[in-house]
Formats: sequence, C-alpha cells, structure tokens
Amino acid sequence: MRLITSVSEMKAITREVRSRGKSVGLVPTMGALHKGHLSLVRQAKQQCDVVVASVFVNPAQFGPDEDYGRYPRDLDKDFNLLSAYNLDTVFSPSADEMYPEGFQTFVEQGPLSGIYEGASRPGHFRGVATVVLKLFNIVQPDMAYFGQKDFQQALAVRRLVEDLNLNVRLVLCPIVRDEDGLAISSRNAYLKPAQRKASLAISQCLRRAEDLAHSGECDAQKILDEMCCVLRAGPGVKIDYMALVNPVGFEPVSRITAGVIALVAARVGPVRLIDNAILGPPGTSPEELLQMALSAPAVTTAEARIPGIDAEAVVHKIEGCRDCAAISTILLPPREFMAGYLKRDYPDLGSVRTAVIGRHTTARPDNSFYRNNGRPNRFVTALYDLLGVAGFAEFKQRFILTDVIRCHASGPRIPDKAMHNCSRHLRNELCLFPNLDTLVVLGEDAYLGVQRFLLDRDSGGIQPFATFIGSRGWVEEQAGLPSLDGRSIRIFYCHHPSLGYQRSPSLASALAK
Ligand code: AMP
Repeated sequence: MRLITSVSEMKAITREVRSRGKSVGLVPTMGALHKGHLSLVRQAKQQCDVVVASVFVNPAQFGPDEDYGRYPRDLDKDFNLLSAYNLDTVFSPSADEMYPEGFQTFVEQGPLSGIYEGASRPGHFRGVATVVLKLFNIVQPDMAYFGQKDFQQALAVRRLVEDLNLNVRLVLCPIVRDEDGLAISSRNAYLKPAQRKASLAISQCLRRAEDLAHSGECDAQKILDEMCCVLRAGPGVKIDYMALVNPVGFEPVSRITAGVIALVAARVGPVRLIDNAILGPPGTSPEELLQMALSAPAVTTAEARIPGIDAEAVVHKIEGCRDCAAISTILLPPREFMAGYLKRDYPDLGSVRTAVIGRHTTARPDNSFYRNNGRPNRFVTALYDLLGVAGFAEFKQRFILTDVIRCHASGPRIPDKAMHNCSRHLRNELCLFPNLDTLVVLGEDAYLGVQRFLLDRDSGGIQPFATFIGSRGWVEEQAGLPSLDGRSIRIFYCHHPSLGYQRSPSLASALAK
C-alpha cells in the first residue's frame, strides 16, 4: 500500500490502473478512521479491483467557528489501520496541494444544500461538493463509497453526480454503531465520559421513532414529539434540528411511509453530533432500508439514447446508468455487465450466435465468469456441460453470458423499476450482436425476466416455471423479439446449472442444429 500526497502522482496511478482495464473504488474520508470508515473500505474491496482511500481534512467544508484546527489527525494510525485491508493507495494531500494559491472555483448546489446540515453549517456543502468533485477528477473512480451516517451529504453527492454528468457509481453503506448504539464518529473522541453517556439520547430517540413506526404510528408530528422527549432527557443535550423527511428532496413529511428518514443533529457540550434512521417495516435489514430510501422516485427521468449498434456507447450508457446508481449496491458485488468484457473477449461481435441469460455473479467478484476467464467453478463446469463446450475459448466464440437481473439488487424483493432498467440494458446488449439467433435462459428468474421484459408478455399469463419446464428438463420456443425488430429467435429455457437441485440435460445437440 502506498501513500500518495501529490495530485499529479495520484492521477498517474489511476491512469495506469484504468489502462489495464481494472475498476477503481474510492473511499473519501477525513481520517481519524474508525469502524464506520472501515465498513466502506470492506465494501469497496468486495466490489472493485483497486481501492483508493483518501484522507483529507477539507478546510473548505468547515465554518470559521468550527473545529477544523483541532479535528483529530493521525495519518500513521490511519495508514496502519488501512494496511490490514491491503488497499492499493492512500491519497492524503495537504491543503495547499488541494487548494493552491489562486484557487477560486467552487461548486454551488441548490436547495438541498441550504437545509438541515446546510442551514446549520453555511457553506458546508459547497466545500463538500467541491472537494468530492476534485477527488473524483483526480482519482477517476468507477465507484465511490459513502456512509448513511451523513445521509444528506450522500444525497448532495448524488445530485452532484447527476447534475454534472459524472461517470461514477455511488454506493451508500449502513451506519456502524458502537455497542451502546452511538453512531461511530471521529468527533466522538471529543466527548467526556458523562457527555458520551448523555449523547446516547440521540440514537435512543431514533430507536423510539422506529418503535413507534413499527407499532403502526404514521403521524409524523406524534413521532417527532416523542423523539423530542427522549432527546431532551439526555443531560446537556441541545437539539440543533430534528425532522422526518422524504429521502429524495429532504422535504418534511406529515405521514410516515417506508423510506422516510428520521434526522437528528444535537450538541452535547461543545460537540455537534448527527445521526439518522430510515423508517421501514419491522424486521427490514439496514441494507434493505437503504435500498427502500434510495429507490424512492427517481432523481431524473432524462433518457440518453444509444446511437446505433455501438459497443462503446452501450458500455458507457450502462456503466453510467443513474437509475442503477439510485439503487444501493449492498452486500453483493455488482452483477457484472457483460459490456465491460466485450473489448477483451469479443473482438468479433458477429461471431456470437447465442446469448446465455442467467444469474452468474458469485458472492466473490474474483470468482466471476469473465473477470476470471471462465475458470471452472461449480457454475462454470455445469454451464459448459449444459452447452457442450470444452472451455472458455470455445465458449466465447459462440456465446455471450449476461443476466437479466443485474442492478445490484439483492434479496427476494427486487423493485420493478430496477427490473425495467436491467432489462433495458439487456435489450441494448443483445442488439450488439448482429447474428444472434438463439437464447439460452437459465433458471426461473431469467425465465420470468425474458418472458416479461424481452417478449413483453403479461405477467398474469406467464406459467409457473416448474409447470412450463415440465419433466423433460428444457423447453424450446421460437419467438419474435420486439427489441430486435421482431426477428425470430430460438429460445431454450432450462434449469439454472448451479442454483437449486435440478439439472437440465445437455443442449449441445439441439444448439448444433
Ligand atoms: P468523514 O471522515 O467523517 O468525512 O467520513 C467519511 C465517510 O465515512 C463518509 O461517507 C461518512 O458518511 C462515512 N461514515 C462516517 N461514520 C460512519 C459510520 N458510523 N458508519 C458508516 N459510515 C460512516
């Protein structure tokens, strides 16, 4: 792991990494690292080839009366903590390096930057947006990791990415708390023991909001009143603001719906602390709650058009899809986009006649199909068996492997909006192969996806998978694909080769016909 302090050196490193086709993840921090920061690092390591953590106490986001001068700084300790994660680079520039003499350009954001944190800390989001944009330009990450702890900041960054058409996917990770419930923060170090005890009222008032919402209370004012009582019970705790807001524009709500955020900022002695909770049905995991909040109505409806059959354009469109970025990528690595591997593995798109559609990303990204040149694992072996190919070289001559569900959505509840976006990407991808004449559809979710989104069939009329597939183990149909100008395509539906207990007999001879 290397420590880089110069902007030009950092730029050169990422240029080199990107030229090797590796993905870059950025974890921006102000140092004084703790378990919250490290959860972002872990997530980034799971999803990116190369991870850069930045450690920079950004003067531009502190007000004149704030704690810039005494903010905790210990780069050696931070470096040691990060070295356990085998990161590639720690980028820790000086303030002069980031804001050299003559610096005068700042990012101004709209209404979101003037409320709550923005109202309490004038100029804060101007400083945040400016430094984040600078870091994105210097590090050029594919993915950047932020914490739910600073929810408003994450939304401001999402707006920045959206409004300025930045080519980075944002990932938001749940709040990490100490055992007593206090959200971990670098500023907790300022708290004296009695203040620390009093500050527990902050997380307790959020727990109270959750309990009330879970018990069916949906009157926002009643919940706020109760939260206030709990918070005031903390000795010496002074409320800065407290609100129940919708997760998109941060407008106050009067009724609670899933995804509403309870926000609190309070002073305990001289220390200002913030915390929040996403309200949702009881038993919902933190990741699902984040997904609920982030997949609330889309930030934008602008549709970019794909000009013709152009692999580069599709790659960029899919990588830059803000609809996907609106869906939190928690737990699972992003399902791999076949488009990312086109250049390396498919110099001649015309040679591909069959698209294989089905889940294939494993929990470990380094185990995934294209990234690993189809190195045999349980899925790959069974897939080659099913298709009757000897190995990756033969596979990529005739087949491409892609998926209908890949908006990083995990768990059984994949929002319809996510499915629509994924299927749009799938349709765009299939258009890249002019001689495509066959689809092999692996398993139930791909079957449902293909029926609904490629063949435009009404979900009510789609047979259950088990009935459809019957005892033969696979089914063939010939169908016109609307997205391929109605061209007739052979479709083979079969069991997923490694999910579930059923195997389909080899399709090799049917495919050869
Ligand atoms: P900071 O160093 O405070 O600027 O934080 C850097 C990143 O870590 C931000 O995206 C924060 O939201 C995130 N972060 C800070 N505290 C926590 C926490 N307790 N849990 C999860 N993420 C956190």
